[in-house]
Amino acid sequence: MDIAANGAIAAAYFIIPLTLLPLLLTARRDIWLNLLLMMMFIFSCGVGHTLSAMHFHNAFWHWVTAGVSWAAVLTLLTSQTRLRYLGETFNLLEATWEQALTGKLLCQRVGDDLTMIKLNPAARVITKGLLKPGDRLCEKMPTHRQRVYPYQVSLIELYLAALESGEPKRLEYQYKGEISGWYMTLVTPLSPELLYMTFTEVSGVIHDPLTGLYNRRVLEMELEAWEVCLFIDLDRFKLINDQRGHYLGDELLKAVAGVLQDHAQTHNGIAVRNGGDEFLLLLPDSNPMPPEPCPMPVAIATSVLEAILAIEIEGASVGASIGVASGTIDAFEEDTSINRLLQAAETALREAKRNRRSNSPQHRIQVWNYNLARRRLRQITLEAYLEQRSSEAEFWLAYQPICNMTTGAIVGAEALIRWDSTHLGRVSPSEFIPVAEATGLVHRISDWVLCHALEQLAQWQEIAPQFTLSVNISPLELEDDDFLERVMERVMGAGIASNHFGIEITERGIYNNLDRYLQGLQGLRDMSLRLKVDDFGMGQSGLAQLLQFRFDEVKVDRFFIPTNAQNLEKVAICRAIANLSEGINFSLVAEGIEQASQRDLMLSLNYTYGQGYLFSRPMTAANLTTLLREGTCLAAL
Ligand code: C2E
Ligand code: MG
Ligand code: MG
Repeated sequence: MDIAANGAIAAAYFIIPLTLLPLLLTARRDIWLNLLLMMMFIFSCGVGHTLSAMHFHNAFWHWVTAGVSWAAVLTLLTSQTRLRYLGETFNLLEATWEQALTGKLLCQRVGDDLTMIKLNPAARVITKGLLKPGDRLCEKMPTHRQRVYPYQVSLIELYLAALESGEPKRLEYQYKGEISGWYMTLVTPLSPELLYMTFTEVSGVIHDPLTGLYNRRVLEMELEAWEVCLFIDLDRFKLINDQRGHYLGDELLKAVAGVLQDHAQTHNGIAVRNGGDEFLLLLPDSNPMPPEPCPMPVAIATSVLEAILAIEIEGASVGASIGVASGTIDAFEEDTSINRLLQAAETALREAKRNRRSNSPQHRIQVWNYNLARRRLRQITLEAYLEQRSSEAEFWLAYQPICNMTTGAIVGAEALIRWDSTHLGRVSPSEFIPVAEATGLVHRISDWVLCHALEQLAQWQEIAPQFTLSVNISPLELEDDDFLERVMERVMGAGIASNHFGIEITERGIYNNLDRYLQGLQGLRDMSLRLKVDDFGMGQSGLAQLLQFRFDEVKVDRFFIPTNAQNLEKVAICRAIANLSEGINFSLVAEGIEQASQRDLMLSLNYTYGQGYLFSRPMTAANLTTLLREGTCLAAL
């Protein structure tokens, strides 16, 4: 009896430690020792009972049992704080589990499906009570839709892949049915069998509501290490949007989005609306889905371009420019690899946009290359130096006279900024003004020009009261809220006759914001400043816009000035503009007159005023002061 009872107790003592084995296998290392000792303690009690049952009173074995028991007691006593923390960690886990806003699930793999073990209240809410413990997850959840990255892979495959790799995976899927929306799931395998998932609804967060494509935020998610980036910008889109209305504009954008989504799906990448009329196509290096190997990025870009050009809605169509970058980009070192890829593609795109010759792929698609990298580096350098306040001390204004071409009398001048950088030498405004425009530094520069030019004009008006001076401003200025106020303040402060101060503006960039542009021009007109279109003929506008903006003066670009009467086209264009100037009443200046023959020809076409190397190159203020004082005439007839 004694033996049987003791034996039964001993058996229980042997089994109890075994029930703790799963805990030992899954618990954190911190408590391994505690668990092990506890198991050994119980086990040694079992040994003790066995010995008693067998009346085997061996002092040695009793001492061993006692030793193990006390070791356990001591270790457990010394690890009280650690255990307390551990307990609190459990509480914390429980709290984040219960109170989290993200849905959390614990699933176990059973065959080719996952059985739900536990889900938190948020998960119940998000899934609208459709899921409960014991449910088969993949059976219950519809597979994600086809047009969502990663394509054509069922959810269970993705989950199993995560389980097999042992690595956390981020999945994103759209689901339509009892529940609909876009969800992002983080899948973390806890053991070969156990999967922990958190999920949040991201509808509207990473998607563009109009086109249904991803928006820029998706780039932060690092879905994949993208190797190829196509940066697409629509040509003439703003014009269509302004002239034909936003509804048509939206339809065109949706059609373009459709083209990009198709390409993204074919090449296993994603399509992103970067904002406005800019899109991105991000593709992996090679097509992981055999048998088709991934075509060259340029071939994909060409196909995208052709598909976009083929779009026609209510007679309206758009063009596109595409910048392509692929592989490892070693410029822009400080940036992440995805940003480098984007920057490279964007730089290539800007280059493609500069080249407006035709709609053919060789003009509209530009691949990032070493030359672009060099140019980009130069831009970054210019940017860095321009940003330094000290660079203002390196600016000065050159003045190029504008003459009455018959008499050679100087009637006015144009102020042209010069930058003699101590680090870079002389940098042309054609090079640094675009950089300043891109970085917003142009506002500071314009203000500097305005101040100095006005100060100079005040002095010259004392010598020659009818003298007019003009400055160049970037079209971007007109979008700056403070610009008009600043001009007003400066003009008033200078004490000059404002109708002798001119603002030259090119039509570049008008379409970024047509209303603002018109508003800005009106503001300048209200101050009775002279408004001049610069480089007329080179921009996108033309005669219709000329009427709309009511400029006071048109400066015909050097490109259109004929060198002899045999340049029939140029002669015809200049004549047409001259006829128009009589009709709508604006004055004319011929730019870039270099030869006497050009001056004569322009005079015969009824142009009175001219500017160019024939009369004078841009000069210092001191030199022009001397000319004005002496009443010098330049290259008179
Ligand atoms: P722009 O306003 O059309 O200025 C005329 C440009 O043509 C000047 O170049 C001038 O030196 C050059 N030029 C004048 N006559 C002749 C000629 O007979 N033959 C040739 N080949 N060229 C001639 P510059 O000074 O290099 O300025 C280039 C452009 O930079 C300007 O074109 C203007 O758009 C911009 N720019 C200059 N200063 C400023 C400024 O203060 N602010 C802004 N926003 N832009 C400026
Ligand atoms: Mg100018
Ligand atoms: Mg010009």
